[in-house]
Amino acid sequence: MTNNTITIAVDGPAASGKGTLSRRLARHFGLNYLDTGSLYRAVALIALNDNILLDDETALSHVAGSLSDDVLSDPRLREPGVGEAASKIASLIPVRETLLRYQRDRAETAPGAVLDGRDIGTVVCPEADVKLFVTASSEVRAERRYKELLSKGQDVTYDDIFAEIERRDARDSSRSAAPLIKAVDAHLLDTTNLDIERALDAAVYLVNQAIKA
Ligand code: C5P
Repeated sequence: MTNNTITIAVDGPAASGKGTLSRRLARHFGLNYLDTGSLYRAVALIALNDNILLDDETALSHVAGSLSDDVLSDPRLREPGVGEAASKIASLIPVRETLLRYQRDRAETAPGAVLDGRDIGTVVCPEADVKLFVTASSEVRAERRYKELLSKGQDVTYDDIFAEIERRDARDSSRSAAPLIKAVDAHLLDTTNLDIERALDAAVYLVNQAIKA
């Protein structure tokens, strides 16, 4: 705990359920919530709309430094093509550095926050009070994402979603800048056989243990 704020870092691969879990954890503990993936997705959405090349570090870090609330709540952020483009621009160090400041500011705002992403426990908030690494099998993650997108009326196939998730995980895990990796002091939470309520119970237990200690 720093300056009376609490930070909960939640990392994990694509569609592991970390977003739903983090939102529920934030509500349970009365904390702010930041979906850091939406920042990378917002940069990607603007790049796709404005025809900015996905390796143009200067233009993309400028975009990263001027994100508006409107783009952060744009429903198109959830489209698979935007996730794929986000994963490409997420390997650019200047973009990551620009977004780092925003993420740390949010973490340090009272009463604290739950942040979810890929590098929260390792890079953004290495001193977090609690770190969770949420995962599930690729098949279960693809199934959950497929159902979520279908329910939003998107025209997707299970096979395409599965392939996109595998490609993104491989790229996110193998990049040199802040790769997707479990922090050594993170608790592993495998939700392959857990529904959201049981995953939330397990996460609440781990957080309570850590903040009592
Ligand atoms: O979490 P989400 O799937 O929305 O993230 C989209 C992409 O943004 C990821 O595939 C990853 O490349 C990137 N990302 C990241 N670091 C974070 C959050 C997301 O590199 N903290």
